Amino acid sequence: MSALFERMAIIGLGLIGSSVARVVRQHGIADHISVCARSPETRQAATDLGLADAVFADPAKAVADADFVLLCTPLGTYKTLAEAFAPSLKPGAIVSDVGSVKGSAIRDVGPFMPDGVTFVPGHPVAGTENSGPHSGFAELFDRRWCILTPPDGTDENAVNTVADFWREAGSEIEIMDAAHHDLVLAVTSHLPHLIAYNIVGTADDLAKVTESEVIKFAAGGFRDFTRIAASDPVMWRDIFLTNRDAVLEMLGRFTEDLSALQKAIRYKDGEELEALFTRTRHIRREVIDAEQADPDEAPEDTY
Ligand code: NAP
Repeated sequence: MSALFERMAIIGLGLIGSSVARVVRQHGIADHISVCARSPETRQAATDLGLADAVFADPAKAVADADFVLLCTPLGTYKTLAEAFAPSLKPGAIVSDVGSVKGSAIRDVGPFMPDGVTFVPGHPVAGTENSGPHSGFAELFDRRWCILTPPDGTDENAVNTVADFWREAGSEIEIMDAAHHDLVLAVTSHLPHLIAYNIVGTADDLAKVTESEVIKFAAGGFRDFTRIAASDPVMWRDIFLTNRDAVLEMLGRFTEDLSALQKAIRYKDGEELEALFTRTRHIRREVIDAEQADPDEAPEDTY
Protein backbone atom coordinates (compact mmCIF):
# COMPACT_ATOMS: atom_id res chain seq x y z
CA MET A 1 0.00 0.00 0.00
CA SER A 2 1.38 3.44 -0.86
CA ALA A 3 1.98 5.99 1.86
CA LEU A 4 -0.81 8.46 2.71
CA PHE A 5 1.71 11.32 2.73
CA GLU A 6 5.03 11.78 0.97
CA ARG A 7 6.40 14.11 3.63
CA MET A 8 5.12 14.79 7.12
CA ALA A 9 6.46 17.04 9.86
CA ILE A 10 6.05 16.41 13.59
CA ILE A 11 6.53 19.43 15.85
CA GLY A 12 7.44 18.22 19.36
CA LEU A 13 8.71 14.72 20.03
CA GLY A 14 7.37 13.79 23.46
CA LEU A 15 5.08 10.90 24.40
CA ILE A 16 2.54 11.68 21.68
CA GLY A 17 4.91 12.98 18.95
CA SER A 18 7.29 10.04 19.32
CA SER A 19 4.41 7.53 19.38
CA VAL A 20 3.10 9.08 16.16
CA ALA A 21 6.59 8.87 14.60
CA ARG A 22 6.84 5.20 15.62
CA VAL A 23 3.45 4.20 14.20
CA VAL A 24 4.05 6.21 10.99
CA ARG A 25 7.32 4.32 10.50
CA GLN A 26 5.83 0.94 11.43
CA HIS A 27 2.75 1.26 9.20
CA GLY A 28 4.47 3.22 6.38
CA ILE A 29 1.97 6.10 6.65
CA ALA A 30 4.47 8.70 5.36
CA ASP A 31 7.61 8.25 3.27
CA HIS A 32 9.60 10.98 5.00
CA ILE A 33 9.37 12.38 8.55
CA SER A 34 10.93 15.67 9.60
CA VAL A 35 10.90 16.45 13.28
CA CYS A 36 11.18 19.77 15.07
CA ALA A 37 12.44 19.40 18.64
CA ARG A 38 13.29 22.14 21.09
CA SER A 39 16.14 20.68 23.16
CA PRO A 40 19.40 19.22 21.80
CA GLU A 41 18.70 16.08 23.89
CA THR A 42 15.37 15.45 22.14
CA ARG A 43 16.90 16.15 18.72
CA GLN A 44 19.62 13.60 19.51
CA ALA A 45 16.98 11.09 20.69
CA ALA A 46 15.06 11.56 17.42
CA THR A 47 18.16 10.45 15.52
CA ASP A 48 19.22 7.71 17.94
CA LEU A 49 15.73 6.17 18.00
CA GLY A 50 15.45 6.33 14.20
CA LEU A 51 12.26 8.38 14.42
CA ALA A 52 13.16 11.07 11.86
CA ASP A 53 14.67 11.44 8.42
CA ALA A 54 15.53 15.06 9.18
CA VAL A 55 15.70 16.90 12.52
CA PHE A 56 15.42 20.66 13.04
CA ALA A 57 15.40 23.13 15.91
CA ASP A 58 13.54 25.66 13.73
CA PRO A 59 9.84 24.79 13.17
CA ALA A 60 9.79 26.80 9.92
CA LYS A 61 12.51 24.56 8.45
CA ALA A 62 10.76 21.38 9.62
CA VAL A 63 7.45 22.20 7.88
CA ALA A 64 8.88 23.38 4.54
CA ASP A 65 7.81 20.85 1.84
CA ALA A 66 5.60 18.88 4.26
CA ASP A 67 2.19 17.69 3.02
CA PHE A 68 1.05 17.10 6.61
CA VAL A 69 2.16 18.91 9.76
CA LEU A 70 1.22 17.55 13.19
CA LEU A 71 1.65 19.83 16.19
CA CYS A 72 2.51 17.70 19.28
CA THR A 73 3.64 20.26 21.88
CA PRO A 74 1.91 21.61 25.03
CA LEU A 75 -1.07 23.88 24.29
CA GLY A 76 0.67 26.99 25.66
CA THR A 77 3.24 26.83 22.82
CA TYR A 78 0.72 26.73 19.95
CA LYS A 79 0.43 30.43 19.15
CA THR A 80 4.15 31.13 19.02
CA LEU A 81 4.89 27.98 17.03
CA ALA A 82 2.04 28.50 14.52
CA GLU A 83 3.14 32.09 13.92
CA ALA A 84 6.72 30.89 13.38
CA PHE A 85 6.03 28.08 10.91
CA ALA A 86 2.95 29.38 9.05
CA PRO A 87 4.83 31.43 6.40
CA SER A 88 6.87 28.34 5.40
CA LEU A 89 3.87 26.04 4.83
CA LYS A 90 3.49 24.59 1.35
CA PRO A 91 0.24 25.48 -0.51
CA GLY A 92 -2.16 22.56 -0.13
CA ALA A 93 -0.60 21.38 3.14
CA ILE A 94 -2.79 20.08 5.96
CA VAL A 95 -1.98 21.11 9.52
CA SER A 96 -3.37 19.21 12.51
CA ASP A 97 -2.61 18.87 16.20
CA VAL A 98 -3.04 16.47 19.12
CA GLY A 99 -3.84 18.96 21.90
CA SER A 100 -6.18 17.98 24.71
CA VAL A 101 -8.24 21.21 24.45
CA LYS A 102 -9.75 22.15 21.08
CA GLY A 103 -11.28 25.63 21.47
CA SER A 104 -7.92 27.16 22.32
CA ALA A 105 -6.16 25.21 19.54
CA ILE A 106 -8.53 26.71 16.97
CA ARG A 107 -8.12 30.17 18.48
CA ASP A 108 -4.30 29.98 18.64
CA VAL A 109 -3.46 28.20 15.36
CA GLY A 110 -6.34 28.95 12.95
CA PRO A 111 -5.69 32.67 12.36
CA PHE A 112 -2.10 32.06 11.21
CA MET A 113 -2.95 29.52 8.50
CA PRO A 114 -2.23 30.95 5.03
CA ASP A 115 -4.72 30.63 2.12
CA GLY A 116 -4.63 27.14 0.64
CA VAL A 117 -3.62 25.48 3.94
CA THR A 118 -6.25 23.67 6.02
CA PHE A 119 -6.15 23.28 9.80
CA VAL A 120 -7.98 20.19 11.09
CA PRO A 121 -7.85 20.14 14.91
CA GLY A 122 -7.59 16.67 16.47
CA HIS A 123 -7.20 14.91 19.80
CA PRO A 124 -6.11 11.28 20.12
CA VAL A 125 -7.72 10.20 23.38
CA ALA A 126 -4.80 8.01 24.36
CA GLY A 127 -1.88 8.53 26.67
CA THR A 128 0.09 7.54 29.72
CA GLU A 129 1.57 9.49 32.62
CA ASN A 130 5.02 9.40 30.99
CA SER A 131 6.68 12.12 28.91
CA GLY A 132 9.50 12.50 26.43
CA PRO A 133 10.71 10.76 23.27
CA HIS A 134 11.69 7.53 25.03
CA SER A 135 8.21 6.99 26.51
CA GLY A 136 6.36 6.62 23.19
CA PHE A 137 5.21 3.36 21.58
CA ALA A 138 3.59 2.54 18.24
CA GLU A 139 0.55 0.80 19.77
CA LEU A 140 -0.55 3.81 21.84
CA PHE A 141 -3.42 4.68 19.49
CA ASP A 142 -4.66 1.12 18.91
CA ARG A 143 -8.46 0.97 19.26
CA ARG A 144 -8.48 4.37 20.97
CA TRP A 145 -10.69 7.24 19.85
CA CYS A 146 -9.31 10.17 17.92
CA ILE A 147 -11.68 13.15 18.03
CA LEU A 148 -11.55 15.67 15.17
CA THR A 149 -13.16 19.08 15.70
CA PRO A 150 -13.10 20.87 12.32
CA PRO A 151 -14.71 24.33 12.47
CA ASP A 152 -17.64 24.92 10.07
CA GLY A 153 -16.47 25.30 6.47
CA THR A 154 -13.27 23.22 6.87
CA ASP A 155 -12.34 21.49 3.61
CA GLU A 156 -13.96 18.05 3.75
CA ASN A 157 -11.17 16.30 1.85
CA ALA A 158 -8.65 17.51 4.41
CA VAL A 159 -10.84 16.25 7.27
CA ASN A 160 -11.16 12.84 5.56
CA THR A 161 -7.39 12.68 5.02
CA VAL A 162 -6.67 13.39 8.70
CA ALA A 163 -9.30 10.78 9.64
CA ASP A 164 -7.51 8.28 7.34
CA PHE A 165 -4.21 9.14 9.00
CA TRP A 166 -5.53 8.22 12.46
CA ARG A 167 -7.30 5.11 11.16
CA GLU A 168 -3.99 3.92 9.72
CA ALA A 169 -2.45 4.60 13.15
CA GLY A 170 -5.05 2.23 14.67
CA SER A 171 -7.63 4.70 16.00
CA GLU A 172 -11.35 5.09 15.58
CA ILE A 173 -12.69 8.48 14.56
CA GLU A 174 -15.34 10.70 16.09
CA ILE A 175 -16.13 14.16 14.76
CA MET A 176 -17.62 16.82 17.04
CA ASP A 177 -17.78 20.51 17.74
CA ALA A 178 -14.77 21.91 19.67
CA ALA A 179 -16.87 23.35 22.53
CA HIS A 180 -18.61 20.00 23.02
CA HIS A 181 -15.25 18.19 23.00
CA ASP A 182 -13.90 20.52 25.68
CA LEU A 183 -16.93 19.94 27.91
CA VAL A 184 -16.86 16.15 27.52
CA LEU A 185 -13.12 15.97 28.17
CA ALA A 186 -13.46 18.26 31.19
CA VAL A 187 -15.54 15.48 32.80
CA THR A 188 -13.76 12.39 31.51
CA SER A 189 -10.15 13.55 31.75
CA HIS A 190 -9.48 17.02 33.13
CA LEU A 191 -11.56 16.76 36.33
CA PRO A 192 -10.18 13.30 37.26
CA HIS A 193 -6.65 14.67 36.87
CA LEU A 194 -7.48 17.69 39.03
CA ILE A 195 -8.90 15.40 41.72
CA ALA A 196 -5.79 13.21 41.58
CA TYR A 197 -3.45 16.21 41.83
CA ASN A 198 -5.48 17.49 44.77
CA ILE A 199 -5.76 14.23 46.70
CA VAL A 200 -2.07 13.40 46.30
CA GLY A 201 -1.18 16.93 47.41
CA THR A 202 -3.43 16.64 50.48
CA ALA A 203 -2.00 13.22 51.35
CA ASP A 204 1.52 14.55 50.96
CA ASP A 205 0.76 17.32 53.45
CA LEU A 206 -0.68 14.64 55.74
CA ALA A 207 2.36 12.37 55.25
CA LYS A 208 4.40 14.91 57.17
CA VAL A 209 2.07 14.26 60.10
CA THR A 210 1.76 10.50 59.76
CA GLU A 211 5.46 9.82 59.12
CA SER A 212 5.04 8.38 55.60
CA GLU A 213 2.25 5.91 56.40
CA VAL A 214 0.62 7.39 53.30
CA ILE A 215 3.39 5.86 51.17
CA LYS A 216 3.55 2.61 53.14
CA PHE A 217 -0.15 1.81 52.73
CA ALA A 218 -0.49 3.38 49.28
CA ALA A 219 -2.11 0.26 47.77
CA GLY A 220 -5.48 1.17 49.30
CA GLY A 221 -6.65 3.14 46.25
CA PHE A 222 -4.15 5.98 46.68
CA ARG A 223 -1.62 4.33 44.34
CA ASP A 224 -3.93 4.80 41.32
CA PHE A 225 -4.17 8.51 42.07
CA THR A 226 -0.38 8.83 42.32
CA ARG A 227 -0.05 7.40 38.80
CA ILE A 228 -2.42 10.01 37.36
CA ALA A 229 -0.85 12.78 39.46
CA ALA A 230 2.56 11.91 37.98
CA SER A 231 1.42 13.28 34.60
CA ASP A 232 3.41 16.02 32.92
CA PRO A 233 3.13 19.29 34.94
CA VAL A 234 3.50 21.66 31.95
CA MET A 235 1.00 19.82 29.77
CA TRP A 236 -1.59 19.80 32.57
CA ARG A 237 -0.96 23.39 33.58
CA ASP A 238 -1.79 24.36 29.98
CA ILE A 239 -4.91 22.15 29.88
CA PHE A 240 -6.40 23.86 32.95
CA LEU A 241 -5.49 27.32 31.70
CA THR A 242 -6.95 26.73 28.21
CA ASN A 243 -10.08 24.79 29.25
CA ARG A 244 -10.82 27.05 32.20
CA ASP A 245 -14.55 27.63 31.64
CA ALA A 246 -15.51 23.98 31.06
CA VAL A 247 -13.40 22.77 33.99
CA LEU A 248 -14.87 25.39 36.34
CA GLU A 249 -18.40 24.41 35.23
CA MET A 250 -17.72 20.71 35.90
CA LEU A 251 -15.91 21.46 39.15
CA GLY A 252 -19.05 23.29 40.34
CA ARG A 253 -21.20 20.22 39.68
CA PHE A 254 -18.60 17.94 41.24
CA THR A 255 -18.51 20.04 44.41
CA GLU A 256 -22.31 19.90 44.71
CA ASP A 257 -22.29 16.10 44.32
CA LEU A 258 -19.45 15.78 46.83
CA SER A 259 -21.46 17.83 49.34
CA ALA A 260 -24.39 15.44 48.82
CA LEU A 261 -22.09 12.50 49.60
CA GLN A 262 -20.75 14.31 52.66
CA LYS A 263 -24.33 14.78 53.85
CA ALA A 264 -25.16 11.10 53.22
CA ILE A 265 -22.18 10.03 55.34
CA ARG A 266 -22.99 12.56 58.09
CA TYR A 267 -26.65 11.38 58.34
CA LYS A 268 -25.71 7.69 57.93
CA ASP A 269 -27.74 7.41 54.70
CA GLY A 270 -26.40 3.98 53.66
CA GLU A 271 -29.08 3.58 51.01
CA GLU A 272 -27.93 6.68 49.16
CA LEU A 273 -24.27 5.61 49.34
CA GLU A 274 -24.99 2.07 48.14
CA ALA A 275 -27.17 3.33 45.28
CA LEU A 276 -24.39 5.56 43.99
CA PHE A 277 -21.67 2.91 44.34
CA THR A 278 -23.87 0.37 42.50
CA ARG A 279 -24.44 2.86 39.67
CA THR A 280 -20.71 3.58 39.37
CA ARG A 281 -19.83 -0.12 39.34
CA HIS A 282 -22.05 -0.49 36.26
CA ILE A 283 -20.20 2.36 34.60
CA ARG A 284 -16.89 0.50 35.06
CA ARG A 285 -18.47 -2.50 33.32
CA GLU A 286 -19.60 -0.31 30.43
CA VAL A 287 -16.10 1.13 30.03
CA ILE A 288 -14.67 -2.41 29.89
CA ASP A 289 -17.36 -3.52 27.42
CA ALA A 290 -16.49 -0.55 25.20
CA GLU A 291 -12.88 -1.85 25.23
CA GLN A 292 -11.62 1.39 26.79
CA ALA A 293 -10.18 -0.43 29.84
CA ASP A 294 -8.55 -3.78 30.52
CA PRO A 295 -10.66 -6.01 32.82
CA ASP A 296 -7.46 -7.75 33.95
CA GLU A 297 -5.56 -4.64 34.98
CA ALA A 298 -4.00 -4.85 38.45
CA PRO A 299 -6.73 -6.82 40.25
CA GLU A 300 -4.94 -6.33 43.57
CA ASP A 301 -5.58 -2.60 43.20
CA THR A 302 -9.33 -2.93 43.34
CA TYR A 303 -9.90 -2.57 47.02
P1 NAP B 1 5.60 15.60 26.36
O1 NAP B 1 5.93 14.17 26.39
O2 NAP B 1 5.92 16.45 27.55
O3 NAP B 1 6.31 16.26 25.08
C1 NAP B 1 6.17 17.58 24.72
C2 NAP B 1 7.13 17.89 23.59
O4 NAP B 1 6.95 19.27 23.20
C3 NAP B 1 8.60 17.73 23.97
O5 NAP B 1 9.28 17.13 22.90
C4 NAP B 1 9.08 19.17 24.15
O6 NAP B 1 10.41 19.41 23.82
C5 NAP B 1 8.22 19.89 23.14
N1 NAP B 1 8.10 21.31 23.42
C6 NAP B 1 7.69 21.88 24.57
N2 NAP B 1 7.72 23.22 24.45
C7 NAP B 1 8.14 23.48 23.20
C8 NAP B 1 8.39 24.68 22.48
N3 NAP B 1 8.18 25.87 23.02
N4 NAP B 1 8.82 24.57 21.19
C9 NAP B 1 9.04 23.38 20.63
N5 NAP B 1 8.83 22.20 21.27
C10 NAP B 1 8.39 22.26 22.54
O7 NAP B 1 4.06 15.87 26.07
P2 NAP B 1 2.97 14.92 25.38
O8 NAP B 1 2.36 14.06 26.41
O9 NAP B 1 3.54 14.29 24.15
O10 NAP B 1 1.86 16.01 25.01
C11 NAP B 1 1.94 16.77 23.83
C12 NAP B 1 0.55 17.24 23.44
O11 NAP B 1 -0.30 16.10 23.33
C13 NAP B 1 -0.11 18.21 24.42
O12 NAP B 1 -0.73 19.25 23.71
C14 NAP B 1 -1.16 17.35 25.11
O13 NAP B 1 -2.29 18.11 25.48
C15 NAP B 1 -1.50 16.32 24.04
N6 NAP B 1 -1.96 15.01 24.53
C16 NAP B 1 -1.30 14.38 25.56
C17 NAP B 1 -1.75 13.16 26.02
C18 NAP B 1 -1.06 12.44 27.16
O14 NAP B 1 -1.65 11.59 27.82
N7 NAP B 1 0.20 12.73 27.44
C19 NAP B 1 -2.86 12.54 25.42
C20 NAP B 1 -3.49 13.17 24.35
C21 NAP B 1 -3.03 14.42 23.91
P3 NAP B 1 11.66 18.86 24.72
O15 NAP B 1 11.65 17.37 24.56
O16 NAP B 1 12.83 19.48 24.09
O17 NAP B 1 11.39 19.32 26.12
